[in-house]
Amino acid sequence: MAEPFVFHFQRGPGGEPEVMYMVDLDCACQVCGHVQYQRFYHSTPFHTLSLDVLDELAERAHLKAGYDCENCGTEVGPDAARRVALTYGFADDAGVIRVFIDRLEETLRYDLQVRRRLDPQAMPVWQPDHEKAAVYDELDEDELEEVFGRPFNIKWAWIDLLEDYLEDPDGGAYSRLSPGLWAVVEHDEESADQLAEEVDEDEFYDALDSGDLAVIPLHDSLPVALATHDHPERISGRLESWLTSALARSFKKEVLWADAYISRKKAIETMERTLTTARLTYTLHETEADVFFSEITTPTGAVYGRGVAVSAVLRRAVHTGLTPGEAARLTAEEIVGILLQLW
Ligand SMILES: [Zn+2]
Repeated sequence: MAEPFVFHFQRGPGGEPEVMYMVDLDCACQVCGHVQYQRFYHSTPFHTLSLDVLDELAERAHLKAGYDCENCGTEVGPDAARRVALTYGFADDAGVIRVFIDRLEETLRYDLQVRRRLDPQAMPVWQPDHEKAAVYDELDEDELEEVFGRPFNIKWAWIDLLEDYLEDPDGGAYSRLSPGLWAVVEHDEESADQLAEEVDEDEFYDALDSGDLAVIPLHDSLPVALATHDHPERISGRLESWLTSALARSFKKEVLWADAYISRKKAIETMERTLTTARLTYTLHETEADVFFSEITTPTGAVYGRGVAVSAVLRRAVHTGLTPGEAARLTAEEIVGILLQLW
């Protein structure tokens, strides 16, 4: 069976993207004991989402419970919720994280499955999967990053790296923020270039050597022309909205330089898979400088009027603190949403 198309994103108030998560509730009527499950596909602001926010969403999830008991007609509410399962899948397919709360036993547990996609049709599950997942009673950012090979939110990883550098600038700073995204930090462009040449990591070296990596300075990453946004300077999640003012000042004083090395291949793969599962066709062409998606067309013949430059998608990833796959997925879903008149 073909992979079903799943929207991870939807347009929130003011055009801000929201990302979907799933909540399952196991409720027992407090009068007759009749058990029913309730499922919600809710969404929450994407750019500010973190592990802490996900925890809060899980802890408040039982408040969503509400229906009339199928058996006795009594109104069932939050107090009847016995178990909660919240599921979140990274939009770049890095994996799925589930939070399980047992309100009777007062336990909270996580399970993390790598390189799994969110399946909105999966049956509700109330227990961590000890065979297929990494299971935790408590979960911090470091453990999450170890499992998924990426932090929850790339923006905070950028900030940590830049602040670490300013505290101890000796030798510069370098980090693999996610698959297909590396950051090199120094005091100016030339020394950053030099540091990149000295990086001793096979994956980085191979990607750089094959010509797959675009180099984008963080402070100059605004995508000038983005097919989905007439005013990219006002895009949700823009650099000015998440970079601390101290870091912004350091860039302005020219004592700080940060280059993103970001994979074209990761963005192209995700764009292609997203458009294809949405049953859209497109033309892909490559020039020496860039790769373009054009003639993006629905099965009924509606055509997206603009071409998408992969370079602009990569700049969006850097500017708004995303992985290349997340920026590609978001951009492709915006196009699908516009074509299907859902956005
Ligand atoms: Zn009842």
